[in-house]
Amino acid sequence: MALNIIDFKDVDISSYDAVVVGSGFAGAVTARELAERGGKRVLIIEKRPHIAGNMYDEYDEAGILVHRYGPHIFHTCDQQVFNYVRQFTGWIAYQHHVLADWYGTYMPVPFNKNSMEIAFGEEKAAHLIQKLIDTFGDERKVTINELRATDDAELAEVADFVYENVFLYYTQKQWGVTPEEVDPSVTARVPVFISRDDRYFQDTYQGMPSLGYTALFEDMLGHAGIDICLSTDAVSVFDLEFEGDAEDSKLACIKIKGQAFTGPIVYTGPLDELFCGRFGRLPYRTLDFVYETYDEEYKLPCGTVNYTVTEDYTRITEFKHLTRQKSDKTTIMKEYSRAYEDPDTQIPYYAIIDDENKAHYERYLALTESLPNFYPVGRLAEYRYYNMDRIVHLALGLSRKILDAE
Ligand code: FAD
Ligand code: UDP
Repeated sequence: MALNIIDFKDVDISSYDAVVVGSGFAGAVTARELAERGGKRVLIIEKRPHIAGNMYDEYDEAGILVHRYGPHIFHTCDQQVFNYVRQFTGWIAYQHHVLADWYGTYMPVPFNKNSMEIAFGEEKAAHLIQKLIDTFGDERKVTINELRATDDAELAEVADFVYENVFLYYTQKQWGVTPEEVDPSVTARVPVFISRDDRYFQDTYQGMPSLGYTALFEDMLGHAGIDICLSTDAVSVFDLEFEGDAEDSKLACIKIKGQAFTGPIVYTGPLDELFCGRFGRLPYRTLDFVYETYDEEYKLPCGTVNYTVTEDYTRITEFKHLTRQKSDKTTIMKEYSRAYEDPDTQIPYYAIIDDENKAHYERYLALTESLPNFYPVGRLAEYRYYNMDRIVHLALGLSRKILDAE
């Protein structure tokens, strides 16, 4: 069924059982579950003029389906999650491949046995691969930090090569600091893989929604129990009341249109924004995307090329590889990473995980813990680095928790 898009000025808040802020996977899955399994009337408040959060895709002027907030490839080992999203869409079986552009030569990322041969030549690579297998085991994934900790001189040479040619410059561009300065979990996402498997992910289920993500979200949110207000910022329509006047006073209630809303409020935006940055803004990295369209069938050899030693953008994605769309034109997208400085003009994409920032975030979270009907969930609200599948898993769990509590 079609989406129920309504204007916030027409909202009768007393007719809703639950309010969900945000329509990415965190908000959309929770809204659907509360409406479908819980029989609730759900109001979604979405700041952007469209649904689907960072997964939003649309056709550009050349008729190519492009992702507007970064390339998104669905991958998971969680069968329950895959079965859940699959109800709303057909599926293209797509396995993502990434190549590093190493001074004009392409090398598979994650760095693997095939990359070793390109970097060191076949003979030397054969010796080094055997040493890696003897040390770590065949078909094993080894983080760059683990590899750098080795005291074997030959493996240290491999570690230095991968560090210098795959991680250093890319991480500096992406995070503004060296790999040693980012949380180890970040670089661990792309380990060295002692394998011939050139795929970026090894999850059991991988693919792309056959009509795109926006179509998937339209199906998920097209439900009689769900109304959606687009271009509506929760910060401007929520009236927060606190237990006291002190800066650390906790939330007592959230009023919407003058009434205290007592049903579940699922919040998937940044917590610092909700509290108008009262303890200072949480740091994030933002991205600028630059699109280029060519009168050629394909521009790149695979879905994404990472520029690990040159250029000031981090990577280029060519969508047609992901979507299998047929056209004699193609659109590519370059990603530039920057510090997030202005909530009015920039989008917070990546939380910068470290102990100080986690403590900063916890201070905001503590303000909400007094309000039993307030549920922060998602990549922004939890200030975490989550893939889509984890978010679907969390949202399904949260919906169960809310419904079970009743
Ligand atoms: P979001 O998708 O960000 O949705 C949050 C929604 O809340 C947004 O629509 C936002 O407008 C809205 N919102 C925020 N504040 C307010 C407010 N005050 N009022 C109203 N609405 C508000 N994951 C993968 O699994 N595979 C990938 O290939 C992949 N690629 C990625 C590439 C990039 C560049 C990035 C940044 C992330 C990628 N991810 C990928 C992660 C994926 O984007 C997240 O897991 C997913 O977006 C999380 O969903 P969410 O609902 O928590 O957040
Ligand atoms: N990374 C890198 N070089 C690469 C790929 C990844 O240095 O060619 C590092 C970089 O720090 C990056 C992190 O590994 O931020 C995680 O990479 P991933 O591809 O998972 O990032 P995402 O797709 O989430 O932006």
